[in-house]
Amino acid sequence: MFKGLTKVMNGARHYSTGSGFFATGQGKKPVRVAVTGASGQIGYQLLFRIASGDMLGKDQPIILQCLELPQAMNSLKGVAMELDDCAFPLLKGIVQSDNPNEAFAGADYALLVGARPRSKGMERGDLLKANAEIFSVQGKALNDNANADTLRVLVVGNPANTNALIAARNAPKIDPKRFSAMTRLDHNRGLAQLSSKVGCAVTEIDKFCIWGNHSATQYPDINFGSIKGKKITDLVDAAWTKDTFIPCVQQRGAAIIAARGLSSAASAASAAIDHMRDWTYGTNGEWTSMAIYSEGEYGADKGLYFSYPVIVSPSGKYEIVKDLKLNEFSKERFEKTNKELCEEHANPSKIIFSPKSESIRDVQFNPFQPYQFASAFDNGTVQIWDTRKQTSAVEKITAHQGLVLSLDWHPEEKSVIATGGRDRAIRIWDFTPSQVGGVMGKALHNLSTISSVYKVGRGHKWQLASYSSIVDFQTIDVPTGLLWRNPNTLVSCSKDGYLLINSINDACKPYQHIRTTGISWNVNNDIASINDKINRNQNNESTSLSNQFPSFFASFNVPAIPIQAPISYFKNLGIDEQQQEKKLKRTSSAHLHIDDNSAVNNNGNSKANNRVNDNIEDMSSSSSGNVTKNNDMAAKEPPSTSVYMESKNDQLLSNLLSAEAVTPLAPLPSRAPSIEIEKSKSSSPILYNDNSNNINNSSSIDDQD
Ligand code: NAD
Repeated sequence: MFKGLTKVMNGARHYSTGSGFFATGQGKKPVRVAVTGASGQIGYQLLFRIASGDMLGKDQPIILQCLELPQAMNSLKGVAMELDDCAFPLLKGIVQSDNPNEAFAGADYALLVGARPRSKGMERGDLLKANAEIFSVQGKALNDNANADTLRVLVVGNPANTNALIAARNAPKIDPKRFSAMTRLDHNRGLAQLSSKVGCAVTEIDKFCIWGNHSATQYPDINFGSIKGKKITDLVDAAWTKDTFIPCVQQRGAAIIAARGLSSAASAASAAIDHMRDWTYGTNGEWTSMAIYSEGEYGADKGLYFSYPVIVSPSGKYEIVKDLKLNEFSKERFEKTNKELCEEHANPSKIIFSPKSESIRDVQFNPFQPYQFASAFDNGTVQIWDTRKQTSAVEKITAHQGLVLSLDWHPEEKSVIATGGRDRAIRIWDFTPSQVGGVMGKALHNLSTISSVYKVGRGHKWQLASYSSIVDFQTIDVPTGLLWRNPNTLVSCSKDGYLLINSINDACKPYQHIRTTGISWNVNNDIASINDKINRNQNNESTSLSNQFPSFFASFNVPAIPIQAPISYFKNLGIDEQQQEKKLKRTSSAHLHIDDNSAVNNNGNSKANNRVNDNIEDMSSSSSGNVTKNNDMAAKEPPSTSVYMESKNDQLLSNLLSAEAVTPLAPLPSRAPSIEIEKSKSSSPILYNDNSNNINNSSSIDDQD
């Protein structure tokens, strides 16, 4: 039995109406009709008519698959009880669900009625965003669950045309021509107005159509129409058409709201029935109006869901009526409604996430999860976002004290992130859901650096690159990008227009140059070294404390961390596992601590030509990987004195320290008020933001129905 099915009725019913009036559909396979917003105004009208056979005929058994919001499930239960009480012969089952995957499972038809109405005080952008979210989720659920070979989707919920576009874009497995939006209500309204004006039956009106958007910019076009063989334009005067008929059809929804206090519901349900019936069984050569996927016909923008005059064949294939010549008046109207749809369409190509935190310093997509990205904030937090859930971050940790300046994802561990902060630290985090709870606030690795970390770049498997905000003699301006070409080659670019190709193997390794005047290794695997250099900054008259005591102290701290850490610098040490395990116990990670004397390089005065302390500068150069092929670093390097270090764990430290870097004290990136992602028109998922300036205020979502 279908999951969630509350009742499936088998066998023939007995009924009292005349034989043949209703067929039972016996022997015919039921079709699955999904209806969203099923207990809303329109839903309440729609379900009973579908179940009675108005939509798909009196001989087609139906299973209704109703989707509602969790808070409306009780109301939906009442609707389902009433459906039961109708004893519809064709109704073979009712699914009630608040889960789109369940409601769309196996669906042959989907009527997407449920949408977010505009509530009091709600910003227009919020309304757009809310509906974009709904239709993204539903598009995806259709993609994953519906019957892609038979599916016909009608979007009724507003803004219907753009919602159809969003849903279709989120359903890449389904032909976009299987999606449509409803302008049949507008079409029917036009027929009713004409019939009343001319005094004819609605069935006597031929070749009337609606162009464009289901909104006040729609264009009801009578120019090709006829009534009993006479051109409509000969039967009504142009002034009536322009000043009465067109505005009346365009504003009919608003007029109904004004009169009824509620938007049109029964007429909307009836139009939805007409739309689906005609799309299934054909229009018998007659014109109808459907908002369908535009290939650019008549100059509408490709990819829009645009209302066209269509004829549907008996097999249910629609064709846009061809070779119509639009007059100047029509062209102007056509362009107006097309422009509005383009603007609505342009907005879905942006997503705005407003994390309600402080300014954002960095945003990076997870290379393994197309929907996931991480963002770094001034308040020290890192947040993980899912583009499918725009309202709030899915994970959040406090990663640094003060600003988080940079972050990047590990190239192979799909939930591991490196972050760099103003607190002179690079930290490695695991955002695997099971880990997040457990290690919240606890980094897998900590690398202390000599300065604020301006940029961490996605590493090669075991390497990480970073720039700190200190001058490096190789790079004279702020590096803005890091890219690994291979484990040995790091490409960096900077604001000064330089593209540097850095060779890691050739890089100076700072631990090789530690002065051994005083060096010590403690039981915690910290290494301390004292620099024997005297003040080099002899020209500087205002000698700072650090210049008076230019000793350089470094300690390489080795905290105990689990050996099977998701990100590990140790696997490529080139030593066998047993050895590695031994070493890991001893040197499972490393910290580089530099005491405050390094502040002489942090004070922003330190330029490449103002080297205060060889050791620090060497370390900077090495750790940044900023060693170009033609650099003269080797000549400048002090002799290697720290074989001790090298022999302990050369590769480990090399790897760790290649994560360290220096750059000029950089102006921080400009602060963004929110994360804004531009997406190309063809990409998915498609959501949209508020860009009120771009949206015509008469759009469909402004109480137009
Ligand atoms: P309604 O508020 O009475 O009902 C909407 C229902 O949708 C509610 O029961 C609500 O719980 C449900 N819903 C909301 N979000 C949902 C979601 N994500 N999943 C499932 N259900 C959800 O509104 P209504 O009068 O029935 O109108 C529905 C929509 O149809 C509105 O957007 C309206 O503007 C639009 N409409 C379009 C046309 C047209 O011609 N295209 C005509 C009339 C109305």
